[in-house]
Amino acid sequence: MPATSLDQIVALAKRRGFIFPSSEIYGGLQGVYDYGPLGVELKNNIIADWWRTNVYERDDMEGLDAAILMNRLVWKYSGHEETFNDPLVDCRNCKMRWRADHIQGVCPNCGSRDLTEPRPFNMMFRTQIGPVADSGSFAYLRPETAQGIFVNFANVLTTSARKLPFGIAQVGKAFRNEINPRNFLFRVREFEQMEIEYFVMPGTDEEWHQRWLEARLAWWEQIGIPRSRITIYDVPTAELAHYSKRTFDLMYEYPNIGVQEIEGIANRTDYDLGSHSKDQAQLNLTARVNHNEDSIARLTYFDQASGRHVVPYVIEPSAGVGRCMLAVMCEGYAEELTKAIPGEKLAAVGEALNAFLKSVGRSEKLSGEARDAILARGEELTQALAERLPEVEQLLAMPGADQIELGKKLRGQAQPLIDEHYRTVLRLKPRLAPIKVAVFPLKRNHEEIVATAKAVRRQLQAGGRMRTIYDDTGAIGKLYRRQDEIGTPFCITVDFDTIGQGKDPALAGTVTVRDRDTMAQERVPIAELEAYLRDRVNA
Ligand code: ATP
Repeated sequence: MPATSLDQIVALAKRRGFIFPSSEIYGGLQGVYDYGPLGVELKNNIIADWWRTNVYERDDMEGLDAAILMNRLVWKYSGHEETFNDPLVDCRNCKMRWRADHIQGVCPNCGSRDLTEPRPFNMMFRTQIGPVADSGSFAYLRPETAQGIFVNFANVLTTSARKLPFGIAQVGKAFRNEINPRNFLFRVREFEQMEIEYFVMPGTDEEWHQRWLEARLAWWEQIGIPRSRITIYDVPTAELAHYSKRTFDLMYEYPNIGVQEIEGIANRTDYDLGSHSKDQAQLNLTARVNHNEDSIARLTYFDQASGRHVVPYVIEPSAGVGRCMLAVMCEGYAEELTKAIPGEKLAAVGEALNAFLKSVGRSEKLSGEARDAILARGEELTQALAERLPEVEQLLAMPGADQIELGKKLRGQAQPLIDEHYRTVLRLKPRLAPIKVAVFPLKRNHEEIVATAKAVRRQLQAGGRMRTIYDDTGAIGKLYRRQDEIGTPFCITVDFDTIGQGKDPALAGTVTVRDRDTMAQERVPIAELEAYLRDRVNA
């Protein structure tokens, strides 16, 4: 079962160093996060997989890395200065600000309906270029990477000698002054996008739109989000962005947040190239573009078959790296029972849970709302305690639960059982796992075992192909759990057999390889390890 609560992922991400709030020692910065040692590996692996699939494994793609700062005119003609707005409302009661389309007329903070009329709020961040702050010196931080591709269309076309159809891929930072950043990595103010602008002959755009939809669904499956977990939202005309003829949003069901967009696949027509072109009147544009007297280029393609210059249509698959990472972590997360709990021990936790819930029911310290929420969650757990015991932690983390004295007793009863009978495992596709292989010595103070384990690590890490680490900071069982939790697909143990001092001399020169998902163990000769792991860590 995937994660049942976003809190599980937030806690894991913090505990194991995937994600930290930005500037935490100064109280943080809302809607901005830092990627820690494991987070940067996972993020880089997602980006590398996307790049490999979309650039290297196709014959019709080029890459690009355009700057974040661009001439302000880009945002004038792209339409962002005028239309990149969200509707902002203020709550007159508690003074909080919200996005009108997210709250259905009621302030989520205080429940008041006394809200101002929505007014447009432009989401682009401004910054100043050069030493003089005047109206001519500001620029925007790009709110999407796409425009860097459009303004380089002619550069890429001439230097690569591409024929239509072809595409340009780019991964990079984008910035949006979101009114309410929230839900961890889902809605932030600084994020990374993986975008493709795919240029096609007008008239073939609808067919290419469908082809990209299929290609993108296949990629999500490849990185661990099954087709059955994605819903395609065919965006209704009234909701389309100003540049779009048709858009498919790929939606994933996140715990707590619900079904939400992870990628948009838009048919942007000839809007963007047309808007950034000079001589627009001669271009037979179909989109309603902004009249442009500043551009010095015609962004056209010479079609030899017809002998005409055409403005290509564009299909844009655009995905956020953070939303992707959150989805793969939610999808891969499991807290599972590894060995049955003796009946009397489970019964004792059941009693502690009941006593806690009774105390919650009687407590005068809690608000009615907090009490009802805890009781409802507690009732769910009572029904299936053996499978869901680890969720006791979430129950005790609910608002108000810390006021109940018996919570401590419940935690005291449940925690040792959780530690002994469950494991947290992140079933990431091996290709995305931050660490591919962890090598452990059975005894950390045995010189030959330690030296062999370190040599195995160095051998596997050589050439930089598989991120391999050495760890001797605990007993083997504990080390397995630490790796399960961060998604490491293989653990290797070097023991007395490996160094020829065990019971079975035939095992000399072999190690134990343990599989994260099945927990099965296999003896593999050290000499064959690399071949054994090479394909498996890229699965
Ligand atoms: P939303 O409606 O959720 O605000 P959007 O439709 O504005 O998203 P697009 O402009 O289509 O998003 O951006 C493409 C992708 O960039 C999105 O599918 C998402 O993965 C990512 N993205 C957009 N805004 C954010 C954000 N504030 N935080 C994280 N990722 C984002």
